[in-house]
Amino acid sequence: MNNYKLLTPGPLTTTETVKKAMLVDHCTWDDEYKQITVAICTQLLELAHASSETYAAVLMQGSGSFGVESVLSSSIGKQDKLLVISNGAYGDRMAEMAYYNDIKCDILNFFYNETPDADKVNAYLKTHPEITHVAMVHCETTTGILNDIEAIGEVVKTHNKIYIVDAMSSFGGVDIEVEKLEIDFLISSANKCIQGVPGFSFVIAKKSEIMNCKGRARSLSLSLYDQYKEMIKDGKWRFTSPTHVVLAFEQALKELKEEGGIIARNTRFSKNMSYLRANFENLGIKPYLNQEVQSPIITTFEFPKENFNFKTMYDFIKARGFAIYPGKLLNLETFRIGVIGEIYLEDIEKLTDVMAEYLSSRG
Ligand SMILES: *Cc1c(COP(=O)(O)O)cnc(C)c1O
Repeated sequence: MNNYKLLTPGPLTTTETVKKAMLVDHCTWDDEYKQITVAICTQLLELAHASSETYAAVLMQGSGSFGVESVLSSSIGKQDKLLVISNGAYGDRMAEMAYYNDIKCDILNFFYNETPDADKVNAYLKTHPEITHVAMVHCETTTGILNDIEAIGEVVKTHNKIYIVDAMSSFGGVDIEVEKLEIDFLISSANKCIQGVPGFSFVIAKKSEIMNCKGRARSLSLSLYDQYKEMIKDGKWRFTSPTHVVLAFEQALKELKEEGGIIARNTRFSKNMSYLRANFENLGIKPYLNQEVQSPIITTFEFPKENFNFKTMYDFIKARGFAIYPGKLLNLETFRIGVIGEIYLEDIEKLTDVMAEYLSSRG
């Protein structure tokens, strides 16, 4: 069995009960099983504050990127043009997906430690009327920065564009009023803040926009419209579904509710994050991001010393109970720590002790 906890933003440390929920083999066309999918979709809409008249939740096999690629490759027509607003690797990945799928795309880059500026987006859209869709990441997991989807969304909607939000690492941990923000497509996955295991992603989308996807898909397996048309009937997935993962997700949603919903989970994650940043700063390890733009999901720290080596630090910490994450910045030596999953203040405290021990072992 696992002898270390994951301080990584998915897969993450799940509960015993979520893992145990997978000890059943389900038949995919069985009514009882199909009803689980229906119930999951209903609960996802509730979590998103989206009405079932206007919105639908669609589950999609594969990791989170499959969900993002499903939306981009299904919703953007041949004559359309996407604008990707990027301040990290996941924003860049959306532009890369556009390239692979032959989707016309512009990219508006921002510094990794700054949230995208709504005025600049506004100016860009003013001078580029050919843009039809705008995509942005909510929590850029590259650094842990939390982008302002409300301010950007206002600009996007003023210009009447389709708004796509990759909320992979934030949905379930940060409250998002999808309908109020008029988000057209929001993507997240089973193994992040909902605390399920990896195996599928989900899309919360305006039904009218799903309908507009008809005939646009560039891929059979990733066609959002076709997936929706099948799933909406009775909860049956179009192709083989990850049955065990679905059962784990059902249990994870139950546990999210028991914890007190997204607000309570956000409070736990936020406390973990504040405690982590404060403790590490006391050890002389500098957080890369300013507190004001820090998400309660994951954070980046700068290596404290010249002779720092990620591999030796990783092994030292893992032997003492935790797996951490390497950094993803090109110009700076960093490492990352996630605080989502079954992680509590006592874990952060223990990690701080381990880090202090490591630092003193290095002199
Ligand atoms: C995790 C994540 C993804 C998806 O990554 P997969 O490895 O495909 O699950 C996409 N965007 C963001 C912001 C993420 O954190």
